[in-house]
Amino acid sequence: MRRTLYIASAITVVAGFALFAMDSENVNLPGSDIDSSRKLTISSPSKTLSSDSATESIQLSSIYDEVLIVGRGDTLMALLVDADVAPANAEMAIRAMSQIYKPRQIKPGQKIVLSLKPKLRAKTVDLVAMKISPNVEQDIFVTQKAGNFAATVVKRPLTKLAVHSTGTIESSLYVAGIKAGLHHETLAEFIQIFSFDVDFQRDIRHGDGFDVIYEEYLERNGAVVKAGNILVAEMTLSGKKNRLYRYKTRDGFTDYYNSKGQSVRKALLRTPIDGARISSGFGKRRHPILGYTRMHKGLDFAARRGTPVYAAGDGFVEYAGRKGSYGKYIRLRHNGSFKTAYAHMHRYAKGIRNGRRVHQGQIIGYVGSTGRSTGPHLHYEVHKNGRQVNPRSIKLPAGRNLTGHELRAFKTKVATLKKQYANLTAQKLAKNQ
Ligand SMILES: [Zn+2]
Repeated sequence: MRRTLYIASAITVVAGFALFAMDSENVNLPGSDIDSSRKLTISSPSKTLSSDSATESIQLSSIYDEVLIVGRGDTLMALLVDADVAPANAEMAIRAMSQIYKPRQIKPGQKIVLSLKPKLRAKTVDLVAMKISPNVEQDIFVTQKAGNFAATVVKRPLTKLAVHSTGTIESSLYVAGIKAGLHHETLAEFIQIFSFDVDFQRDIRHGDGFDVIYEEYLERNGAVVKAGNILVAEMTLSGKKNRLYRYKTRDGFTDYYNSKGQSVRKALLRTPIDGARISSGFGKRRHPILGYTRMHKGLDFAARRGTPVYAAGDGFVEYAGRKGSYGKYIRLRHNGSFKTAYAHMHRYAKGIRNGRRVHQGQIIGYVGSTGRSTGPHLHYEVHKNGRQVNPRSIKLPAGRNLTGHELRAFKTKVATLKKQYANLTAQKLAKNQ
């Protein structure tokens, strides 16, 4: 690849116009640098440009780009025809594209770049190339060569960068995190990592802090397109530091461990929902609808309708469906002795059906008010050996601890992460001075 580029630039030095010829080949082999749609603009499906071909130069420069934004209910065919592409031309392009990307998958807001070429004495234009980006990681190119269309996927070159962020909590971790520039996803992951040990409603005090190293994916122009993994996560609670490291074991499981190689993962999450407040505890209470005193066999978390509910632990969906006064209800079986149940849901998450495997922290449904309920909340139960127990008082079996060469490999990784951490904080200090 590098050699090809070298040759291309050599030719460019010899004769400037040869660049067009090289680029027109690139259109048919979009492997290298096609995130700029301009390259498609100057390229032509025609043969090599000869130096005296003035008319062809005019034709070349007349190729133009048109950027379309998909609207609600738009079809690709309609969009292309609206852009004056001849229907037969559009159909062929779409057929070529559907080999790798179905035209139905286009979504409102998506950008489509067309390279068009006017036709002499015709109302329609010739579609030279089309670029659709289904996600931040790839582009799909449909290019025409002598009346035939071909589609290719081009991975966008994203750069992964480690970023350091730190902050002091004044009101909530969420507010402090956003203020420090953390992405929503990173913040949600951070909360998830500590949710085994930290009760985010009760344990957070004014002046507590967080410190995190996480990855960001950048496009060539420097724009951050998505957040990556958290590498080091630290929380300072009442002056006590709690630092965790991301590590993947040889059998392929990724987890967060303290410096001794002990996993922080517990069998069950204490709170299977983010940022919710307990509106009703476990035990005897006067029932808000029935009016008499009875046992409340779970915890109620007040939260807005649609708030995601997480699986409290790894396991299987034992039941997902309507269940009397519980409304829309899910029960998960985690191991021989523990089950968890979630009631009054607005709806289930995609793929949540009886018998399905779920992972801890996976979204299983959304808060609602179905069944006998006075307003949107999650009713959460932990069943131990067939009986409901107080989720706050159960002893949660601990996660895995690293030993032997796995522990040695982990310590090496920690040393690397510590070095990275030191470098990043030093850079930051230098920048702030
Ligand atoms: Zn309840």
